[in-house]
Amino acid sequence: MEYSGPTSLYIDGDWVDAASDATIETLDPATEEPYATVARAGESDVDAAVEAASKAAERGSEWRTMGPSERGELLHAMADAIEERKDEITLVESHDNGKTPFEAGMEVQMVIDTFRYYAGWTDKVTGDYNPVPGKRVNYTTREPLGVTGHIVPWNYPFQLAGRSLAPALACGNTAVLKPSSQTPLSALYYGLAAEEAGLPDGVVNIVPGSGSEAGSALASHSDVEHVTFTGSTEIGKRVMADAAENVTGVTLELGGKGPNVVFPDADLDAAAKGVHYGIFMNAGQMCWAGSRLLVHEDVADELVEKIVQRAESTPLGSGIDDDGRMGPVVSESHQADVLEYISIGADEGATVACGGGRPEDKEDGYFVEPTVLTDVTNDMTVAREEIFGPVLSVIEFEDQAEAIEIANDSPYGLLAGIWTDGLSRAHQVADALDYGMVSVNEYPVTFPQTPFGGTKQSGHGREQGEEAVREFTQAKNINLNIH
Ligand code: NAP
Repeated sequence: MEYSGPTSLYIDGDWVDAASDATIETLDPATEEPYATVARAGESDVDAAVEAASKAAERGSEWRTMGPSERGELLHAMADAIEERKDEITLVESHDNGKTPFEAGMEVQMVIDTFRYYAGWTDKVTGDYNPVPGKRVNYTTREPLGVTGHIVPWNYPFQLAGRSLAPALACGNTAVLKPSSQTPLSALYYGLAAEEAGLPDGVVNIVPGSGSEAGSALASHSDVEHVTFTGSTEIGKRVMADAAENVTGVTLELGGKGPNVVFPDADLDAAAKGVHYGIFMNAGQMCWAGSRLLVHEDVADELVEKIVQRAESTPLGSGIDDDGRMGPVVSESHQADVLEYISIGADEGATVACGGGRPEDKEDGYFVEPTVLTDVTNDMTVAREEIFGPVLSVIEFEDQAEAIEIANDSPYGLLAGIWTDGLSRAHQVADALDYGMVSVNEYPVTFPQTPFGGTKQSGHGREQGEEAVREFTQAKNINLNIH
């Protein structure tokens, strides 16, 4: 499919070229061919976007004075506009990122659901009445923050933008969105949706550009009140430091090294399916990938055999190949990084049970075979570092205590999976895991209604659900002396 979507920056309700006229050329990772060229924002474009967002966020502005139900209707209208273009956005995402249309379609649907969910929140952001001594009336309201920045990675470009954009808008904030320069296309469709829905100019602004220039300019901007950053832990720390210069609040959604813990009483067929899905979906390029399989020694051989069978029968393909169930990774350099991790694993003593290289039948595209590494111990590089590709590291354990110890022995704490038929065991282990999210007998799973985020180096703050409403509003206390 030829790209026919927007190619300009979206600032203050207008589609504009970058001040420098610079552009970004994107590649289709499945064909290695150029796919589209879009404007590339620099620092002055980010300044213009923040200025427009600041104006739109002012007290007395159309957006700030709009009734909450009307704002909810506009969010519903954005969801409608996205839904009308669902097939187009799905294919664009598939070509831009390499994921299969099935996976891209799930992303777009999640965004539609998220906008509808937060459309329902706009008139439910209530405050509190506070019982205080004396003749006083004391109450707390929740106000919008103002301009919010959204910096998004390339692995789920459309969904991760919508995940923070929807609650930010629902709470009455304005937004400047910077997608990854590797996958800038789908984010621009939020500009079309905002236009079609009739949002006031400046409420949504979109500035594709490089992280070091546009991203850093946004994170360090003194008029931005909050930054939602989704990406690597390394860059997340830098964004936090940039934001700290202006005491700007941050929500950080960073890396992971998720354990899927399989006990001997689990349904092994269901576990094999879930573990396979949890590491090979999106070619393993997921913050919450279940990249460590912790399996009880009594069932390890049987489970690994089932997973290997599934891995070896996964058809590789892309947006132009209807049969594909796993796409390429996003770029040549990322493919090289993933293959390097596999070879480090083998050097450190892991056994390559399946996969391990580029598929022989794919001449083009940055494909990596679904790979299972056995004989892994939790101190090996492949068990500690986020590979962000289709590579599963299998670690055996003897008992529940050891499983918990290994699962928690990680710098990360995003999502953990538990596979068991024992109700008590499920609760005991869920309680003992130092993770922001735990899922039993299903992996991975999240909903717009449920909080998303991690502990330790997986991040700070939570997205989705009511938690995001708290992140995107600030408390204001008002005291009335009525003596
Ligand atoms: P990344 O390199 O950290 O980039 C993320 C975003 O930050 C991109 O838009 C990037 O722009 C921008 N950026 C780069 N340098 C910046 C800087 N100095 N200041 C401000 N912004 C900057 O991450 P990635 O490689 O795209 O994504 C993979 C990582 O994201 C993985 O670690 C994964 O676990 C994590 N992730 C986390 C979640 C979650 O919810 N916890 C979800 C998805 C992904 P450019 O790309 O244009 O340079």
